Amino acid sequence: MEWLLTPGPVRLHPKALEALSRPQLHHRTEPARELFLRARTLLQQAFQTQGEVLLLTGSGTLAMEALVLNLFAPGERVLVPVYGKFSERFAEIAESAGLQVDRLLLPYGEVPGPEGVARPGYRGLLLVHSETSTGALVDLPALAKAFREANPEGLVGADMVTSLLVREVALEAWGVDAAVSGSQKGLMCPPGLGVVALGPRALERLRPRGYYLNLVRELKAQREGESAWTPAINLVGAVAAVLEEVLPKLPEHLALKAWQNDLLYRVGAELGLRPVPRVPSPAVAAFYLPQGVPYRAVKEAFARRQAVIAGGQGPLRGSIFRLSLMGHYDRYEALGVAALFREALADILPAS
Ligand SMILES: *Cc1c(COP(=O)(O)O)cnc(C)c1O
Repeated sequence: MEWLLTPGPVRLHPKALEALSRPQLHHRTEPARELFLRARTLLQQAFQTQGEVLLLTGSGTLAMEALVLNLFAPGERVLVPVYGKFSERFAEIAESAGLQVDRLLLPYGEVPGPEGVARPGYRGLLLVHSETSTGALVDLPALAKAFREANPEGLVGADMVTSLLVREVALEAWGVDAAVSGSQKGLMCPPGLGVVALGPRALERLRPRGYYLNLVRELKAQREGESAWTPAINLVGAVAAVLEEVLPKLPEHLALKAWQNDLLYRVGAELGLRPVPRVPSPAVAAFYLPQGVPYRAVKEAFARRQAVIAGGQGPLRGSIFRLSLMGHYDRYEALGVAALFREALADILPAS
């Protein structure tokens, strides 16, 4: 068996595998419409919003682009704190959509505080909740509040790609207007679906832009259980099946994810590894490489044990490694991974 320890794609949930083994549905039939509506309702609960959730065929980045394109017009000013690869991506997407982007640059591993975003003059704030490239978690409610006090008309858009189903999230209660995720992270499904959640304020501000990414057209179709174009209906079925299983016991699931990620950090601390983030997200454990050890050596030590890990991205490439138990792992499998982690590092670290 292979241990997939990357922060997406992740080890699949058995309910996803089961759903994917069913015969093909045609998307313009009643059973498909029912399934589509069920998935949307379950996602609405997962995001804790009274608004609407749209399912798009594509990866999480597509959902980020759809959010930016349909909520902001060219020339509008947005504030984008940059503290990792995905927050940098949010800034690049906003620039490519023609927005005026002010980056708030922070060292990778850090996160912005409320004082940094309490600046007037913006139509929007774009934030990554769980910055998977550094393993850092942002205090989203505090930042949304500080930004909206300075910009009452401003919208808060959040990347919840590796926080949905990994840690508590809530749209309206946190002052977040729109959020995105993808199927291959906390949802424990294969890659291929992007998700956009739109709270009431975002729905009011929605303007059609783009063709495939036109969310006004999607909203109209998806309210009827269809989508404008052929959806990845099999993945919609997988997402619905996982949510049906996980949502009724969400507190226990989130507690397990937190415990598992803490376990990875505890093992790292025993081994003398330095964590990358100051405030860790439960989605991934990120460590600086031991002195003088190349990433390749760590990757190979895990590979010898049939485990796949992730390295650093952007400026952190070649200086960190990342492990994640965001996928479907129970408590005992996580303990097995902890043992594997100790063994793999013993191959590399000089015996003390
Ligand atoms: C994985 C991820 C994305 C989306 O990446 P895709 O490869 O497009 O699915 C976006 N944001 C974060 C924080 C992620 O971890």
